[in-house]
Amino acid sequence: MKPLVVITGASSGFGAEIAKLFAADNYPLLLLGRRQAKLAALAANFENAMIDTVDVTNYHQFETAIRKAEAKYGKTDLLVNNAGLMLLGNVQNQDPQEWRTMLNTNVMGVLNGTQIVLNDMRDREHGTILNMSSLAGKKTFVNHAAYVASKFGVHGLSETLREENAPKNVRVMLVAPGAAETELLTHVTSKSALSDYEAWKASMGGLTLDPKHVAATVKFMYDMPQNVNIREVDIAATAQD
Ligand code: NDP
Repeated sequence: MKPLVVITGASSGFGAEIAKLFAADNYPLLLLGRRQAKLAALAANFENAMIDTVDVTNYHQFETAIRKAEAKYGKTDLLVNNAGLMLLGNVQNQDPQEWRTMLNTNVMGVLNGTQIVLNDMRDREHGTILNMSSLAGKKTFVNHAAYVASKFGVHGLSETLREENAPKNVRVMLVAPGAAETELLTHVTSKSALSDYEAWKASMGGLTLDPKHVAATVKFMYDMPQNVNIREVDIAATAQD
C-alpha cells in the first residue's frame, strides 16, 4: 500500500481537488475539515479514505485524528497544510476577531500540523510537508493586510522549516496560488472589500485559476523523488496582474 497522505481543508476548493488526484493514484487519505457532510460526500468516492472533523487550531483534535489514521495506514508521508481563511477588510474598520481567527487558522494551523508529523518524519528521514500559501505571501494587495500578514508568515515559516529539516531528508514545499474559484470569498463580511475584489478580477477579464491546476501542481511536486525538493511554485491565471 502507498503511504498516508493527510490533507487539511479537504471539504472544498483546492483541498478537495488535491484529494481526488491522490485517491485516483491509490494513496490512502486522511481528509480533514470542520464540515462532516462535505468530507463524507467526497470520501464516499474513494476506496481508502478516512475523514475527521478537525479544527486545525485545536492541536489535540488534529493530533488525535492523525494518530488514528496512522494506526490504520502507517506513518504520514505527506501533510498538505491547506486549510485557510481569507477575511478581507481594512485595518481601520475590521473586527479584530477576524484577524485572530485568520492568523490562528492560517499560521497556527500550519505550525500545529507540522509539529504533529515532523518528529516521525525526521526519525524516518523521509516525508514531505506542503504548505498552501498565496501570492499574498510575497506581494501586497489592498484590503488584505491581515491575510497578507498570515501568508507572509506561511512563506517565512516554510523556508525556515525547509532549511532546518533538509539534513533529515524531509522536504518542505510551498505553493503560492493566485486568485481561484473556490469557497474562499464566501466568508468575507466586508461588502466594500468584496466589491473591490470583484472589480479587480473583472479588470483581468474575470479570469481566475481552476483549482484542478493547483491540485495537479501539488501532485507533480510530491511525485518528484525524495531527494528533489521543488521548494516553491507560484501559479496564477495568465491574465492576473
Ligand atoms: P475554500 O474556502 O474552498 O477551502 C478552505 C478549506 O479550509 C475548507 O475546506 C475549510 O473547511 C478549511 N478550513 C477553514 N478553516 C478551518 C479550520 N479552522 N480548521 C479546519 N479546516 C478549516 O478555499 P480554498 O480552497 O481557496 O483555500 C485553500 C487554501 O488556499 C487556503 O489556505 C487559502 O488561503 C489558499 N489560497 C486560495 C486562493 C484562492 O483564490 N482561492 C489563492 C491563494 C491561496 P471547513 O469549512 O469544512 O472547516
